[in-house]
Amino acid sequence: MAKISFQDFSAYYKLKKKKYVLSLNKITLEIPSESFFVVVGPSGSGKTTLLKAILGGVELTDGLLIINGTSVENIKKKEANISYLSQEYSLYPHMTVYENVAFPLRRMRTDFQEIDLRVKTVLDYLKIDFLASRKPRQLSYGQMQRVAIARALVKNPRIMLFDEPFSNLEPTLKNELRLTLKNIHQEFKPTIIYATHDLTDAFILGEKIAVLNGGELEAIGTKEEIENSDKAFVRSFLSR
Ligand code: ADP
Ligand code: MG
Repeated sequence: MAKISFQDFSAYYKLKKKKYVLSLNKITLEIPSESFFVVVGPSGSGKTTLLKAILGGVELTDGLLIINGTSVENIKKKEANISYLSQEYSLYPHMTVYENVAFPLRRMRTDFQEIDLRVKTVLDYLKIDFLASRKPRQLSYGQMQRVAIARALVKNPRIMLFDEPFSNLEPTLKNELRLTLKNIHQEFKPTIIYATHDLTDAFILGEKIAVLNGGELEAIGTKEEIENSDKAFVRSFLSR
């Protein structure tokens, strides 16, 4: 269970000379527990900031961000059990696939046998068990993505954040990985928040979709509701 609720939530970045950038402006939205939620918007619209805020990584905020009844600043990193996967997912080059996937568990000082069991289960689930002893440089791009997903999944996270993870991939691979994420969602039921600038991506994946523009929430709803939005920005975004 992991319901996430933003109430009049704003985020700022501090620049030099006491100047600030407002990067989310009074966002109010609710992300239901166990949903596949997509945040879509052009570059600079605040998608990454929204994900980082859920991780507790934005310092200057206003309003409320509540995860399962607890305000985000009171949640300890260790207890949050949130995974984050971005475009720059970078596997550790000197570690094998097995060690890469085991890494988050080692950091949590998980029991040795438990680590082995979990890593093997997740590698098997993603059909990359045969890659266990390879180094990242011996992998194809698609295999690397799967290892990165395995590393994000191994902690059995209750919230999974994806920040434009498949932006640079070719269409076949993109489709394959989208399907993988859908399966993960169905099987393990984490709350997934997936950021993308690509509406096709949003419509294929999102049970619910939030459209951001310049730090403001323009629209929120199902694919059909977004398609029927009468907001000027959404109309123009749809016709791009
Ligand atoms: P997106 O992920 O949709 O491209 P971001 O959340 O990265 O958008 O950025 C939202 C706004 O905040 C942009 O105007 C961006 O320039 C600004 N911003 C993001 N990160 C920083 C930072 N570390 N310092 C200053 N401004 C930032
Ligand atoms: Mg971003």
